[in-house]
Amino acid sequence: MKAQIALFSAALGLCSPTFAHTLNTPTFASQFYYDGLIMTLDGKGYFGQQWIENATDVTLFPKNGNTALWTLTLTNALGQPVVGAPVEISAAPLTLTAPQWREPNDMAARFSRSVRTKILTRIEQGLFRLKAPFEVSSPVTDARGQITVSIRNFHSCGNDSLPGSDRFIARVGSLQQTLKVKCAVTGLVPIPDAPAQGLTTAGLVGRHLHPNLLAALQNLGRAWHAQPDKPAGMPDHLTITGATMRWGGINPPHFTHKFGGTIDIRPLGTQSGPISVGDAAYDRQATQSLVDALIQLGATQIIFADNLTGVTQVKANHKNHLHVSFLSEPLEPWDHHDSDLDDEGLHWHNYDGIYDTRYFIPTVNQLKLNADLFNLKQQK
Ligand SMILES: [Zn+2]
Repeated sequence: MKAQIALFSAALGLCSPTFAHTLNTPTFASQFYYDGLIMTLDGKGYFGQQWIENATDVTLFPKNGNTALWTLTLTNALGQPVVGAPVEISAAPLTLTAPQWREPNDMAARFSRSVRTKILTRIEQGLFRLKAPFEVSSPVTDARGQITVSIRNFHSCGNDSLPGSDRFIARVGSLQQTLKVKCAVTGLVPIPDAPAQGLTTAGLVGRHLHPNLLAALQNLGRAWHAQPDKPAGMPDHLTITGATMRWGGINPPHFTHKFGGTIDIRPLGTQSGPISVGDAAYDRQATQSLVDALIQLGATQIIFADNLTGVTQVKANHKNHLHVSFLSEPLEPWDHHDSDLDDEGLHWHNYDGIYDTRYFIPTVNQLKLNADLFNLKQQK
């Protein structure tokens, strides 16, 4: 067959040295295999496997326990494996290269002083990853002409227009394959500031959420906007003060807010702007009605400084916002020991062996609009 091509080329006067060389050059091919959480663009997701031939661009969900294998195969011109060939593998940050995302000390500095040592320990343990860690099966190709690079997920996904990514390069002689490995929770959407429609934001860095959660909060905002008989001075809108980075993943100084299923929301009071438990303007009954509505939407965790019905954890440091999650056990992805607690007294949670999408994709109920959705009257 190759002889025929050569003859054909010669007949056409195409027998350039380059073409002749190509015929004798080995082929360097790759296959990418991923076993983990796969998100679709509309925010749905499932645990499954993907195989991609000669992939150049792949996405890993920022959950520990995902497996990715990049297999490189070297064959000669006859299609036979080339055995014992040295393959050089390198990897480096390609996007989101700022030290505050990629260097341990710079990342730790973005957290409160009290937890910096713990963050550095987690990075050192390889549980909290600023780059995609990898291992190479062998420095040279095996009997099948292959080497395998196992690549693990990382958590520096970021808030830029492009997600955090590492560029892997495999070189053998003059041949190379490259692979861009991205960190992303795909499908998250930005929260629009629309106070006239009942929902706005304040002080956000990461302003993204899962689309189902945003839709539910927008419905809740519209219902609040339309609510009659609000006390004088109380705003017509709800205010989100914490969400998720554009691509999910680590969201300093938060430990949570990584997957688009968790919000911080302001309590209600008889003035606009910030409101804290203890302020004269804080309205306990209105805030209770907000908690009731959030539970109707499916909130699994509500942390707040006031012991309202439905609050799952009372914490003195949550005076000016309610931390509300719609995920199962919305804790951390880099647990080491069950006895480890973070600075808020929450268990660090090991997600490695969890294959339940509800831990990563929020479950949100449709809002039931009824007359007592917001009960603003004190109950005796
Ligand atoms: Zn929060």
